[in-house]
Amino acid sequence: MHKLYILFILTGLLLSGSGCSSKVVNTTKEFEVQIPYKTQYVVILVIDGPRWTETFGDSTCALIPMMGRELVKEGVLYTNFRNEGSTTTTAGHTAITTGFYQTISNGGRELPKRPSLFQYFLKSTNADKTKAWLVSSKGKLEVLANTRDKHWWNMYMPSTYCGPNGNSSSYGGDAATFAKAGEVLKTYRPSLMLINLLEVDTHGHGNDWEGYKRGIIHCDQYAYDLWQLIQSDPELKDRTTLFITNDHGRHLDGHKNGFVNHGDNCEGCRHISLLAMGPDFKKGKVVSEKAEMIDIPATIAEMLHFEMPTGNGKVLTSLF
Ligand SMILES: [Zn+2]
Ligand SMILES: [Zn+2]
Repeated sequence: MHKLYILFILTGLLLSGSGCSSKVVNTTKEFEVQIPYKTQYVVILVIDGPRWTETFGDSTCALIPMMGRELVKEGVLYTNFRNEGSTTTTAGHTAITTGFYQTISNGGRELPKRPSLFQYFLKSTNADKTKAWLVSSKGKLEVLANTRDKHWWNMYMPSTYCGPNGNSSSYGGDAATFAKAGEVLKTYRPSLMLINLLEVDTHGHGNDWEGYKRGIIHCDQYAYDLWQLIQSDPELKDRTTLFITNDHGRHLDGHKNGFVNHGDNCEGCRHISLLAMGPDFKKGKVVSEKAEMIDIPATIAEMLHFEMPTGNGKVLTSLF
């Protein structure tokens, strides 16, 4: 959609026959020209499960001072950003990595149906697997590295750190995950990386309101620190785009058990946020038009110049 098309219409007059009859031949040729984006590296930070009402929906941004008051000046905030699929962790992340809403086991025992942006990227560039990374506090998100599409299964898989032991066997703390993400950024400078942080969701499920709010404050600081880490690296600075989003929200107050859980189609579960920063994006812009998590991989595919035909999202043109 954002690709630049140049249309040349060549009209020629060809004479045929014995001089008195002529035939007009129209020739239309379409050339696709790639826009030379400045972005060479993309990081997606997924803060697992805060509600809109405790993040950007609070006009004082009390729990997200860094994102809400500092980082917003650096990028574009989508205020009507949605998970329109299943509002669980694995399904939400799968929508972000495959561009397709799928009902999927939330326990890490089922692979996504469609290939991920990591796989499309690694195939199209023939890059080493250290150029795409999945770094997650939740071990079960290891499934995002692979697909059960038989043409892609076990192929073009990214490097992973999904909890200290991987698979669905364990969860790690966000401090260790963030340290790993920083080490990966500095060591490999991956073209594509997704990071999952779990603290908000964990305290929500624990019915721990203070812990839930503290988790949002911590993740807000991680988001800021991540952006500073990127800016402090001469190679990554001015070449890196950061998407900060969520996999799902949580139930609205008064609906079921409120902030404790999520997973249905209430507004609290569906309404999430996207803050996106990078050298190709506008700064300090707020977009109120509806957009969805499946639009993230479509936008990344456009910027890093690979095709993702099994994704259903649209390029987020308001970013540019
Ligand atoms: Zn959860
Ligand atoms: Zn709900």
